[in-house]
Amino acid sequence: MPAVTDYYRVLGVSEKAEPDEIKRVYRRLAKQYHPDTNPDDPAAAERFKEISEAHSVLSDPDKRKQYDMMRKYGAFAAGRGRPRPDPQQRQGDFDFTRGFEGFGGLGDLFSSIFGRRRPDVPEPIEVTASVPFRVAIRGGKVPVTVRLSEACPTCGGSGGAPGAKVSTCQECRGRGEVTFGQGAFSVTRPCPVCRGRGRVASEACPRCAGQGEVTVDRRIMVTVAPAAETGTRVRIKGEGQLGPGGAKGDIIVNFNVEPDSFLRREGLDLHCKVPINLAQALLGTKIRVRTIGGSRVVLKIPPGTQPGRKFRIKGHGVERNGRRGDQLVEVEVRLPEQLSPEQQDLLRRFADGAGLKY
Ligand SMILES: [Zn+2]
Ligand SMILES: [Zn+2]
Repeated sequence: MPAVTDYYRVLGVSEKAEPDEIKRVYRRLAKQYHPDTNPDDPAAAERFKEISEAHSVLSDPDKRKQYDMMRKYGAFAAGRGRPRPDPQQRQGDFDFTRGFEGFGGLGDLFSSIFGRRRPDVPEPIEVTASVPFRVAIRGGKVPVTVRLSEACPTCGGSGGAPGAKVSTCQECRGRGEVTFGQGAFSVTRPCPVCRGRGRVASEACPRCAGQGEVTVDRRIMVTVAPAAETGTRVRIKGEGQLGPGGAKGDIIVNFNVEPDSFLRREGLDLHCKVPINLAQALLGTKIRVRTIGGSRVVLKIPPGTQPGRKFRIKGHGVERNGRRGDQLVEVEVRLPEQLSPEQQDLLRRFADGAGLKY
């Protein structure tokens, strides 16, 4: 079981210390160990961090109450220093380096500090979601299918065949968990024989073969924030695999943005190519260009526009953090592949007049 720093000891106050006293002591110590007054002193920096953490918990009435409760239950040995990182500790668990920021209920606190009380939160499931180009830019929702194990509907998760005799698990004596090691260094895990249920059936459920769970493909809708890119990941908390202790893991969705046949993204700008013909390029024209919003914007092409020239449609790019890119339209001048004799004659006359060789 990992130990927790004794915050009262860190500040050198009694557990009955009034908020005023805690504040006063904290100020004095913080001043004394502040990195500004102790440059290049890692010990002082560490102490300063500890003091700040202790203060952040003890100065908050709610946090202090929870902490006191935990302390009463003996989550740490008095006088023990800062705990070493618990190798079993997983993402999402209590992070000692971050102090008590953002912890939820007392259950969370217990589950993260008392190894044996921590529900076995399954590893997150990673899936890839295809995101249409427009949804990636503008935001929206995409479906994704996640393969999960769920309680077997036939046996309701008991693993026993209908009518089977159910008895207490011999391995864990009905506790549903087994403990390895001793004392402060013991590790408790769900019982592998009864899978944490504490009971075993005389005959296994035919549908799940006694596992108590079946594999299902669940379709969920994932919210895509605007300006998403391939490689953008979102974590959906508590929607993933159900663990033996009843806690659900997370789902990590990796976005894969589908290319668009017309638009291409570059940073906050969107690029596209629009074909115009020889007469349009030479005489000028107006073209209608599709934008990411779905509307068509009229773009004026001036006479004498050269192939490859780019026009900017302001504000029709990607919007991110209040900044908005543009749409860049490159004109491609398409030449006719064949000319009729009359057209050839016209073109020769044009070339002669313009002094062009042919
Ligand atoms: Zn079953
Ligand atoms: Zn068991």
